[in-house]
Amino acid sequence: MLTMLEIPESKTIGIQAEDTLSGKTITNVFTATKPHKLTAYHGEPAQYKNFLTGRQITSARGHGMFVDLCCDAETNITIGDGTNLRYYAAGEPCPEKHQLLIEFHDGSFIAFTVAMYGGIWAYKGVFDNKYHRGSLESISPLEDAFDESYFDNIFRNTSKNISLKALLATEQRIPGLGNGVLQDILFNAGLHPKRKKSTLNDFHEAELFHSLKATLKKMTDRGGRDTEKDLFGNNGGYKTILSKNTLNKPCPNCGGPLVKESYFGGAVYFCPNCQPL
Ligand SMILES: [Zn+2]
Repeated sequence: MLTMLEIPESKTIGIQAEDTLSGKTITNVFTATKPHKLTAYHGEPAQYKNFLTGRQITSARGHGMFVDLCCDAETNITIGDGTNLRYYAAGEPCPEKHQLLIEFHDGSFIAFTVAMYGGIWAYKGVFDNKYHRGSLESISPLEDAFDESYFDNIFRNTSKNISLKALLATEQRIPGLGNGVLQDILFNAGLHPKRKKSTLNDFHEAELFHSLKATLKKMTDRGGRDTEKDLFGNNGGYKTILSKNTLNKPCPNCGGPLVKESYFGGAVYFCPNCQPL
């Protein structure tokens, strides 16, 4: 299954990892059961065992489309969008396939799996990756500082003819706001994903801002979306309005049929009635 690490999931997994993994010392590291071309590493994954053994996890944090496991000696492990991180208690069976597995002193372990593409980076100090840096330096929509004027600034700094999907979910203008969370944000704002920015008035823009804040907060408060898995392999508690899970259900607003279309590098879901173009 494709793992989508967006704001609600990175935040949830970051909190779970901080609570569950802090204080654990790495005693062993196992490389991929099967090589996977589209998994990115920092240097040679064969070196991870030497690099990580003996390190203790001190904290964890989720931001944008990343989760960072921070260890002592300035050592960090970062996963990005597409990588699933799962915790197993001592004695639980190992997954058949993984791209990396880290065992701790108490017999518990974490497994990293990648379905299509993903990254598992272990490094010292600051991660030299522009998206990671951009994510750390930007203000999350979950923070109060992400206010109407902050959003308006992002909104203004895009071309007139840009669609709402492209504005919100590409170029990492809002790190971790991807094609997944986008669907319910636009549904709640009553706006079509293909709609051009130039057709929005101030009222629409305000609706979009409020929906973006409220929808992401709700998704995060409920432990991520029901289409995604948390650190323990459970689905998130947020019930998606528009996703592959709901496509065959009627629109919760008007009862009409929902539509799925391929648009701008991924599927968009919408209600043509409640989100007119
Ligand atoms: Zn509808």
